[in-house]
Formats: sequence, structure tokens, C-alpha cells
Amino acid sequence: MATAAHRMDAPAALPDDLLLAVRDLKIAIGTDEGRIVPVNGVDLTLGHGRTLGLVGESGSGKSLSTKALMQLLPNTAQILDGSHLLFRTKQGSVVDLAGFAPRGKQIRAIRGGEIAMIFQEPMASFSPVYTIGNQMIEAIRLHRGFDKKAARALAIDMLGKVGLSNPRLRVDQYPHELSGGMRQRAMIAIALATNPSLLIADEPTTALDVTTQAQILALIRSLQDELGMSVLFITHDMGVIAQVADEVAVMYMGEVVEYGPTRDVVRHPQHPYTRGLLAAIPSIDQIGGRLTPIGGDLPSTRPSGCPFHTRCDQAISGRCDTVQPESTALGPSWWARCHLLGQAAS
Ligand code: SF4
Repeated sequence: MATAAHRMDAPAALPDDLLLAVRDLKIAIGTDEGRIVPVNGVDLTLGHGRTLGLVGESGSGKSLSTKALMQLLPNTAQILDGSHLLFRTKQGSVVDLAGFAPRGKQIRAIRGGEIAMIFQEPMASFSPVYTIGNQMIEAIRLHRGFDKKAARALAIDMLGKVGLSNPRLRVDQYPHELSGGMRQRAMIAIALATNPSLLIADEPTTALDVTTQAQILALIRSLQDELGMSVLFITHDMGVIAQVADEVAVMYMGEVVEYGPTRDVVRHPQHPYTRGLLAAIPSIDQIGGRLTPIGGDLPSTRPSGCPFHTRCDQAISGRCDTVQPESTALGPSWWARCHLLGQAAS
């Protein structure tokens, strides 16, 4: 079972404008070859009503980092001592989610009620043997204390809000009776019916065609404005980040290598890996043009020095492969970890 080997001495300080602060998050996983640390000192902050994009290739640690918030890590994983996941509850108290037992009462109250999650594959959110309505009504009653009639009325209202036609019919349908795009909308309705203050969206549009993807992104944004929630949006696609995120954290091999306002990072990326992610997507003026995939694969173990040096065409021999770069401030809330920036600043 995943455990949180963790002291309960978390600093309770969370600035008022923040809903969430991840501080020095480290996650270890036991493997046949020994222990690995796929998340190695992640720091993130998320303000009320803001969207933070977490971007990186598969294996960068972004999904694992967010699963830690819900204590939904694999059984072999462990949040390491010294990690803090500070979260402001609806009652206004600050709790450290890293200290909660994965199956305990405290995290179960947070999960679904205060933090909700949507995935790439909506069927993972549903039980196939219950109607959409029954699943929503159960969650609404559990987390919002509504009676059955009021919960059903809210479920129908939410299904209408996410753009499903004829919500009075949909509420009594089973998940397999809906099309893929409709299931995606129903999944969002279920997640938001409990009025969470944080929505974690883990690649929710990756499997969709471009048109449906644009509709779902617009839907998430409009519901966010209406409900006032914050969103942690996980994707491998910088194009999606540019559309949805206020701030972006670029992750590589379990570390944040660049963090800042999305507009700045997308227009003037400072880390070579961020530039690589941007070059790998079709921007408006690149459509029809050549895209440049990032060369090489993620190493199986963390290299010494800068973790990106095995794939970086600007790596400085004798430095990047031996010395880990510190973060360099690029603006009030913008920084990156690269020796080239350190050189420019010195
Ligand atoms: Fe490339 Fe060196 Fe910068 Fe790492 S520190 S991203 S290897 S230039």
C-alpha cells in the first residue's frame, strides 16, 4: 500500500492568495532494481481561480505529482519525508495532504469534495453498472449533504451546464449509452457536481479530435469562471497549455525546469527543454510546416549534473554533465534551471 512516511510538522503558512503550495515534493518507488525517485523536489503554487499547466513528456513525473495530492499513488510509491502539499480547505484551514493516510477519513473528505479529477479516459471515472445520475447523486449527497430530490435536480442541472442535450434523459442513461464526447462531458459534470475548489485535469483532451478538444477546453474554462475553482492541467502538449494555463511548470525527469506566466514562457522560453516542447507542436504560423521533435529518449536513470544534458544540443561539456544548475530568476514569478542562464546573469 502506498504510504506517506511523513512527519506531521508541516509549515501551515500558505499565503492568502494561494489555494495550493507543493513544497519540495519527493516521491520514491520501489522497483526490482532498487529504489528510484521519479519526483525529486517539485515546488508549485496555484492561486484561487487560476489555472496552472503542468507540462512534460510521459515519464516526467507530472501525473505522479498530482496523484500525490489525492493520495492516489501506486502501492509501491511513497511520499518522502520533508515533502509538503499545503491545501486550503473550504472552511479556510490549511492542511498538509502529504501527511494524510492514503485510505484515511481526512483524504476521503478532500477527494471528490474539495479536489476532483478528470482523466483522458472517461470510462475510468464511471461504474458501468450504475446510471450517470445515480453516480452523480451519490457523490452530491455524500459531499454536499443534499437530499435525493435536490441531488437529482443538481445532477440534471450540471449535465445541462456541460452541454449535454436532453439532460433529463441522460441522467437515467448508463455510461455505455453515451458517445465518447458525451462521456467526456458527463465526466466533467460528475467531477464538478460536488463544487470542488480544485480540479485536476490529467490529459482530458488527448484522445479527442481537434474540434471536440477545443470544445472541451472552452467548457472547462467557462465552468471555471462560473464556479470559481482552480485548475491543475496536466498535458504533454504546449499548444494546450498556451490555450488554458495562466502559469506553467515545465517538468523533466521529476523536476520543474522552468516555471512562469504562460504568456512569457510561451513567447520567450528560456530552458532548452521548454523550447523543444514548443518546437514539437504546430503553432498557428507553423501549420503545414516542419515540426522538430525533441531528440533522444528520457534516460532510464537520472544522469548526473543537469538531467537534460544527454539530450541538450547546448550542453557545456564538463559542466552540464557534472553540476546541477540552480534556478535563475527571470522575472518576479518566472525562473528556469539552466547553466546558460546563470552565465548570462553573472
Ligand atoms: Fe542544456 Fe546545460 Fe542548460 Fe541543461 S544546463 S539545459 S544541459 S545548457
